[in-house]
Amino acid sequence: MTATVQRIEDLVGAAGSHLVATVNPEFVMRARKDSEFARVLESAALCLPDGTGVVWAARRQGCELREPVAGVDLVQPLAAMCARRGFRLFLLGAAPGVAAELAATLRDANLGLEVAAHAGSPDPSDDVESVHRIHDHRAQVLLVAYGAPTQELWFDRLKDRLGVSVAVGVGGSFDYLTGRVPRPPAWMRRAGLEWLGRLALQPWRIRRMAVLPMYALKVLRSGK
Ligand code: UDP
Repeated sequence: MTATVQRIEDLVGAAGSHLVATVNPEFVMRARKDSEFARVLESAALCLPDGTGVVWAARRQGCELREPVAGVDLVQPLAAMCARRGFRLFLLGAAPGVAAELAATLRDANLGLEVAAHAGSPDPSDDVESVHRIHDHRAQVLLVAYGAPTQELWFDRLKDRLGVSVAVGVGGSFDYLTGRVPRPPAWMRRAGLEWLGRLALQPWRIRRMAVLPMYALKVLRSGK
């Protein structure tokens, strides 16, 4: 987490507009079939292991990752870094009012943080409004909460018009951080059972999680 925040801090100073993706097993399985999503993930400046499933897969392929870095855990440290460095932060996505509520919480917790929020939508008819608001705030760091792959494709489509240095796709993080959706307890996450906790709390996820056994199988087959 510390290294991730440092890396994002460095990216803000670098030229260009960089994508940071928080990759979980569902991303991996989707990218195998969706070449456009795969291309966008390949173009990312940083792909973070969102959960123990990706850390496990990486280890089996000889890449030692210290710990998972989930989008939801990244938001607060990132906001603290933005406050410390004077970087302007923008929260985009989730249902109306959610991002604004989180922005207020982050402002309270981080003295001097310049943060703005907008729900918007990933629909192209909303592009002009969203781009205008992000520009208006002169945002340097953008968190996009439209879920995958929508948020990554949204950024790829608009990256040249946003003027931001870094955009991070954070999925349902705003809902978790404002308490709208409960998160599985920390012990479950540490034990690699986040998927089970999520399934218990949000049973409708079963369809999306149906790819997990295949993911595990492919990792076991591809490992050393
Ligand atoms: N979302 C949105 N607009 C859309 C579709 C989704 O703002 O058109 C938001 C939704 O409100 C939620 C997030 O995107 O906050 C997706 O959350 P989900 O838990 O599905 O994402 P995950 O964390 O699983 O990637």
